[in-house]
Amino acid sequence: MSAHSLDTNDLVSLRDDIRSRKTSACATVGAYLARIESQNPTLNAFRETFADDARASASRVDQAIAAGDPVGPLAGVPIAIKDNIVTRLGRTSCSSRILENYRSPFDATVIERLTTAGAILIGKTNMDEFAMGSSCETCAFGAVRNPWDTSRVPGGSSGGSAAAVAANLCAAALGSDTGGSIRQPASLCGIVGLKPTFGRVSRYGLVAFGSSLDQIGPLTHSVRDSALLYQCMAGDDHHDSTCAPHPVEDVVTTLDETPRTFRVGLPLQYRKGNSSAVDAAVTRAVEHFRTMGAEIVDVDLPLTDVGISTYYVIAPAEACSNLARFDGIRYGHRTASPSAQDLFDLYAQSRAEGFGPEVQRRIMLGTYVLSAGYYDAYYRRALQIRRLIKREFDAAFALCDVILGPTSPTAAFSLGGVTDPLSMYMCDVYTVNTNIAGICGISLPAGFDESGAARLPVGIQLQAQAFAEPLLFKIARGYERAQGGREQIAG
Ligand code: GLN
Repeated sequence: MSAHSLDTNDLVSLRDDIRSRKTSACATVGAYLARIESQNPTLNAFRETFADDARASASRVDQAIAAGDPVGPLAGVPIAIKDNIVTRLGRTSCSSRILENYRSPFDATVIERLTTAGAILIGKTNMDEFAMGSSCETCAFGAVRNPWDTSRVPGGSSGGSAAAVAANLCAAALGSDTGGSIRQPASLCGIVGLKPTFGRVSRYGLVAFGSSLDQIGPLTHSVRDSALLYQCMAGDDHHDSTCAPHPVEDVVTTLDETPRTFRVGLPLQYRKGNSSAVDAAVTRAVEHFRTMGAEIVDVDLPLTDVGISTYYVIAPAEACSNLARFDGIRYGHRTASPSAQDLFDLYAQSRAEGFGPEVQRRIMLGTYVLSAGYYDAYYRRALQIRRLIKREFDAAFALCDVILGPTSPTAAFSLGGVTDPLSMYMCDVYTVNTNIAGICGISLPAGFDESGAARLPVGIQLQAQAFAEPLLFKIARGYERAQGGREQIAG
């Protein structure tokens, strides 16, 4: 069979073509590996690929299909994995020097679930170091580039996953989202990114950043692909005590049942400081929703602005304790310097060599807000504001089914274009509160910013109540259809 051309690149079509033997898993894997080989030197989206294992798994899938054996819902589709999700294959570095050569003895629960469903792991994707960043410039092994314009960032921290999907180097990818790290890069790369409800997808095997905020989710070409991956991964896990025991509803077969009427909430606070292309995308989305029969209502989220300060207390506080295990003894890089006098010196030097500047900044921030004199003023206060943010969303969801707004205030910025940490943190103004409140959110491609030399994708975000993924997917799918589908990168 000739190499698969990757023309129909969404995961579900690919899966159907493999199943009906229009193409084969082997040809598909071969085609993706060839694209990775030619494009990754520029994009730096992958940390490593699993060529031999992927080919071997593909050939097992093809044999099973040829023999008429039952195969899983993801049989033969190559999926890329963010490098903070542990896999027995290869390394799990979190794009950090401190874990450069770390090999996990086990697979994360999501990896087990995807491979049980027949997915093929094609490789590990680059990311901001320990998922701290919004541009994939904090990676210890070089920045990732946006496939729409390689002088631009892909967003972060799951920027390698987003760039890999957008450039069609894999059928779909996994990312993690602590404050926007799936949705913002999805928006900047013109694809679909889902942050599931807190507790919906197991984090067993996700290297922890902010344990009360982190969720794993899919980055995909389409809403249907997102729903399918979500369904394959979601659900209780005895390895993760924060996983919710609720049964997982079927979101795939009901996907096209967009409700005849629903309410879309538009927060006043989401209209400040966006580029005109982003505002125009939201206005167009409002029109699409009206045509779909939705009622548009104003909602009030006055704490939108304080989300960033709240997040930058809670996330670093949790990160500094989660990252304490990387000390050069239990885990990670150990200094070779002979000047280490005692155990403390050894820890300090190993960590100073192993962690990059942004991670060090977060550890210091977190240690500060948790220290005896400042705990009440910062950490406890942030937890109080967290409760108010949660209440604010509850009040908004009494008036609407989904909240519509931008995912990110602008399209992709230039590499090196945002240098001060505060401006970088502001990229997440529309995404952090989703995590703070533990609800779900999805970023959808919503047209382009045509103001510069290159056309750059912009995204919209829909947020819904905790465990309302079935409704979120139906409304997202309705929008995708109304909007006329996704434009892809040529070539
Ligand atoms: N950009 C945010 C940060 O730097 C969010 C990261 C994430 O969601 N992992 O912390």
